[in-house]
Amino acid sequence: MKQSRRDFFKIAGIIGAGLAGVKPEKANAAPKNVISDDRMGVLVDTTLCVGCRRCEYACKEAHGIEAGSLDDYDDRSVFKKMRRPDAGALTVVNEFENDEASGLPINVKVQCMHCDHPACVSACIVGALSKQENGAVIWNGDKCIGCRYCVVACPFQIPAFEYHKAIEPDIVKCDFCYERTSKGGIPACVEACPMEALTYGKRFDLIKLAHNRINADPDNYIDHVYGEHEVGGTSWMYLASKDFSELALPEHGSEPMPGASESLQHGIFKYFIPPASLYALLGGIMWLGKKKEKSELGE
Ligand code: SF4
Ligand code: SF4
Ligand code: SF4
Repeated sequence: MKQSRRDFFKIAGIIGAGLAGVKPEKANAAPKNVISDDRMGVLVDTTLCVGCRRCEYACKEAHGIEAGSLDDYDDRSVFKKMRRPDAGALTVVNEFENDEASGLPINVKVQCMHCDHPACVSACIVGALSKQENGAVIWNGDKCIGCRYCVVACPFQIPAFEYHKAIEPDIVKCDFCYERTSKGGIPACVEACPMEALTYGKRFDLIKLAHNRINADPDNYIDHVYGEHEVGGTSWMYLASKDFSELALPEHGSEPMPGASESLQHGIFKYFIPPASLYALLGGIMWLGKKKEKSELGE
């Protein structure tokens, strides 16, 4: 069934009218961003990582993603090109040249950083992303309208959109193994790492551990814990023997990154458009988009 423009404005109008009496902060489904002193994190020590990619395999297994055979992960030809997490892999390991004496390559695991002030959370206009008490930034498919603001806003280019899925594509990213970590378990990747290159613990303890390692072996590490301050702090942090900018970890200051939609929202406030109407309009557009995709496929 085709949607006419009239249908669209009718639906948007109904939604808008429904929200007209609602205070803006309620209509916004304000993003949840809990910053607990006890929040957890992971310290990635790239000087210990050997690029075995057991973490990639374990992550897929834990999330019901086709993982293939464990033997496939011994194939080091994957390191010929830089990879990014995507809908088929919530974490990937890349390899970089090491110009230091050891000559061994440097491997760097990449996944969501679980920022303390997540740009993806502030960008989401319907509160589909949230920072949980244990440090995890998670996505709620029931709230998501598919606008992809989070994809654009993330300073680490992490959230992926399932473009290959015609019906109800998801936003996909590392969820800090929330099913496990919210019940006191540890992330699957951390559990699988044979080199103990990944340490799970309270973020504040990990920062102490990271500085202790640097102080104990200053020739092996640069004096920088990546993620301690970047974009206001992240739950995942890194140690390395060379500058992080040479390991494809972007140079960011300590200020949190504003979400893309924050500027949009501020602009709209400036011109006195009530946020409730804006959310109703955007929600209507996204809802119709999803409905149109379904009807074209005869659903
Ligand atoms: S790395 Fe990106 S997706 Fe992950 S919490 Fe930060 S802003 Fe959100
Ligand atoms: S924390 Fe969980 S979801 Fe994130 S990379 Fe590790 S295994 Fe994957
Ligand atoms: S499992 Fe550990 S050692 Fe192996 S690639 Fe992942 S982080 Fe590196």
